[in-house]
Amino acid sequence: MSQPRLIVIDDEPGMADFVRDVAVRAGFDVEQFHNAGLFMEQYSKRADVIVLDLMMPGVDGIEVIRFLTGIDCDSLLILISGFDPGVLHSAQKLATEQRLNFVGSLSKPFRYEELHHLLSGLSITPKSLAHQIYIDPPSVDELREALVNDELVVYYQPKVGLSKSFIMTVEALVRWQHPTHGLLGPDLFIATAEQHGLIDELTWVVLKHAMAQHRFWRDQGLTIQVSVNMSASTLKELDLPEHMGNLVQEYGLEPSQMILEVTETALMQELTRSLDILTRLRMKGFYLSIDDFGTGYSSLVQLHRAPFSEIKIDRSFVMEMENDPEAATIVETIILLGHRLNMKIVAEGVETDKCRKKLARLECDQAQGYLFARPMPGNEVVAWFSKHRKT
Ligand code: C2E
Ligand code: CA
Ligand code: CA
Repeated sequence: MSQPRLIVIDDEPGMADFVRDVAVRAGFDVEQFHNAGLFMEQYSKRADVIVLDLMMPGVDGIEVIRFLTGIDCDSLLILISGFDPGVLHSAQKLATEQRLNFVGSLSKPFRYEELHHLLSGLSITPKSLAHQIYIDPPSVDELREALVNDELVVYYQPKVGLSKSFIMTVEALVRWQHPTHGLLGPDLFIATAEQHGLIDELTWVVLKHAMAQHRFWRDQGLTIQVSVNMSASTLKELDLPEHMGNLVQEYGLEPSQMILEVTETALMQELTRSLDILTRLRMKGFYLSIDDFGTGYSSLVQLHRAPFSEIKIDRSFVMEMENDPEAATIVETIILLGHRLNMKIVAEGVETDKCRKKLARLECDQAQGYLFARPMPGNEVVAWFSKHRKT
């Protein structure tokens, strides 16, 4: 059958029954475990969603998280706990750091609507239906060939202004048009490129695509600022500012039309060298953005030293904002801090209108997310902007 499968692990039978009832109404096929040890023995990786209670006698929820990490579990994970919210929050952080697909948490007691809302909002392709959706990352040799054969393409995702001002910006996101697997996302090949010294070449390919596209938009009468993701290794080339300067010139563009997105972690690897390079890029007129802000280890001091013009708040905080007051506080604080330092703030991962409204109230400058648009091929961008401008 095509129903998605949900497993609930909770030692309290009343609670497990409650979760089962809500899940059945939300269209799931449900299996219960009152004992986490038994779950670990019998689990066969076939659940689409796992609802896990943290506090259980014997094997507890944290041990289950460790187990799920060990088997590379790709089910969506929901955590529940009757303990204080701090514990739930730490467990949630642990789960995301271990790359589990954490999608939400609930503090006991919670209402029927809360769980139903969470479950019915999940986008799931039931494992029973999914054939070959999960492919292994292609090998480094395949990636080398892809670079030679020009198989990388670039998609663009708009960043939308939250106040009256209307600046058109898109982020360039690389994809691989694989001859047999179809269109592959960056998560399947960026890490390979980084480990095998291909990331610089990849970055230049993306930059050239983005600049050619920019030029094309401009010829159609649109000026769109384009941001490109720069990896840590590219930021260590001392002649990067000269290279970049030459490249924009070659495409007849201005540096101020490009934004370079850098993650905090990339920046911190060799701070002095990166600061040298970033400062010279900024002096040439390129804009600089700190990506995934909040997930790395930068401090206010570093933020202040580097010539950034923009902060992108990591989507893990933005997406949690509606359900997690601490995440909302973090978002609010980043916005205040960034504005004090004269930076523009972009929130990524905006999926709901409620989230957009909240960000607008907090005076966040721009937002990016599925609510507005998914990443799209370059030739759809002009039409998207003219439609968006009307609404
Ligand atoms: P990122 O820089 O944080 O890019 C944003 C990612 O969030 C994109 O995933 C985008 O599709 C996704 N996203 C946007 N809005 C939403 C939303 O509302 N909800 C959710 N759940 N996701 C949203 P994508 O394209 O798969 O890229 C993943 C990561 O791969 C990027 O994260 C970036 O770190 C890396 N990447 C992409 N292109 C390049 C590139 O050209 N060079 C390098 N070095 N890294 C790249
Ligand atoms: Ca980015
Ligand atoms: Ca990001």
